[in-house]
Amino acid sequence: MEAPNLATAIPDRIGAWTDGHWVAPGSHANDLPVMNPTTGQRIGTLAEADADAVAAAVDAARRRFAAGDWSRAPVDARKAVLVRIRDLMRERAEELAQLETLGTGIPITQARGRHVLRAAMNFEFFAEFISQSADRLYDQNPDYLTLVRHEPVGVAGLIAPWNAPLALATMKVAGAIAFGNSCVLKPSELTPLPFLPLMEILHDAGLPDGVVNLVNGRGPVTGQALVAHPDVDVVAFTGGTATGRLIGAAAGKGLKRVVTELGGKSANIVCADADLDRAVDAAVLAGFSNNGQQCLAGTRLLLQRTIADEFLDRFIARVRALRVGPPAETSTEIGPLISAGQLERVSGYAKVAREEGAEILTGGDPADLGGGYFFQPTVVRARSNEQRVCREEIFGPFVSVLEFEDFDEALSIANDSEFGLVAYVWTGSLAQAMRAADELRTGVVWINTPLFRELRAPFGGFKHSGVGRDGGDWSRGLFTEAKTVSIPRRDFALARLSS
Ligand code: NDP
Repeated sequence: MEAPNLATAIPDRIGAWTDGHWVAPGSHANDLPVMNPTTGQRIGTLAEADADAVAAAVDAARRRFAAGDWSRAPVDARKAVLVRIRDLMRERAEELAQLETLGTGIPITQARGRHVLRAAMNFEFFAEFISQSADRLYDQNPDYLTLVRHEPVGVAGLIAPWNAPLALATMKVAGAIAFGNSCVLKPSELTPLPFLPLMEILHDAGLPDGVVNLVNGRGPVTGQALVAHPDVDVVAFTGGTATGRLIGAAAGKGLKRVVTELGGKSANIVCADADLDRAVDAAVLAGFSNNGQQCLAGTRLLLQRTIADEFLDRFIARVRALRVGPPAETSTEIGPLISAGQLERVSGYAKVAREEGAEILTGGDPADLGGGYFFQPTVVRARSNEQRVCREEIFGPFVSVLEFEDFDEALSIANDSEFGLVAYVWTGSLAQAMRAADELRTGVVWINTPLFRELRAPFGGFKHSGVGRDGGDWSRGLFTEAKTVSIPRRDFALARLSS
């Protein structure tokens, strides 16, 4: 196994980053273990932030916001800091990737090639976005000029999941601070490691202390305290649908603005007229990259009946050839699941599949690598879209296959889901592609391509896959207050009362 290249030593206890310093409570009562999913061994300790620690972080964010040196800084000054953050992330990319892999089990090639690059890109994107976006001016009325300004909202509470910690958390952090907000970030308690160097990077790039604060701990303790804090103005959450409901309710109670990016059970439709070579490649990538633990995974593979057998032969052969192993090794394509609980959950779905009469075409059991939370890449042929393996998000290397007769049926099965995050369509027909774009009830439709994220465009889900969007203008909408300013254009007589 390649040795991790860790310039950042993992401290004995990982606390909170408040106002530019690491702080940990004196009491060890709420310490939590940080586990290595590859070995199942403990690799660190998290000092959980309680409500007081969360309040201290929110207070630091509020003070910095009120000081105005970031919230009212010229756009070019903010842009310069964001670009320096990007540069420092690239300089420390290997260390960030190693920590991401150590804590999540994501194969190192994917951490290097996808996650860290995307995280650095998030800062670059918002640096460019704020320097190029302009506000509107309405001059149609002959008496008035009316300007629209976008001002930062205040303090943002940002809650991120464990499956792509750096990429997803930095999308929120970069968006929040680019528009002048301060923030408090709460990553998943399972994956605190890459945020150790990230906080240093923000500091070294010249971001004023208190603009970004970080609290670590469990959702129902630390996350809940953050969302409920009265001084948090806006909440951005990525995570599971059940948690999203709680967050939405709590934010609604405090009349806070909120966006939730939640789960998915995305259809990957392969028509008989598709380029099957590309569709096979994409089905493997969409189902199994990131160890299958991604919200936008193509987990319902819908195959047109006339090509189903041929496609499945090729797909299954490729899935069986996936290299399951230690994520630090560059040859590994599938690493361990995040936790013992997740391994149990995914194993449980293999049991459910068997009980419901689905046919396990490959996999279906934990993979024995002498420890850790490994699960075999799994494909099941479902009997109908009503089966739980077609309806519920499994969040592991687990693809359910269904067949369809014609495109009407494919669209109907794809839309028959409580989720609506993304959909994939493989077809040689422009007419079918356009129908898919019209009729699929999902936030993103990928036609003849997998997993492309355009940061300028909105990203988010229909139905129970979330409320709201991020990306470009949509992030600006979330993280700013729009203000209308009207100015008379000439000295006309104003309306008067009691004249
Ligand atoms: P969870 O919903 O369990 O947790 C997400 C985050 O919310 C974690 O930081 C968690 O803390 C925190 N949290 C949990 N309960 C509460 C609460 N009551 N109040 C405040 N915060 C809370 O999701 P997972 O971490 O298990 O992530 C996997 C899920 O994320 C999947 O369903 C996946 O589909 C979804 N996801 C969605 C994406 C999208 O863009 N739509 C992208 C990636 C993932 P902790 O873990 O520390 O307890």
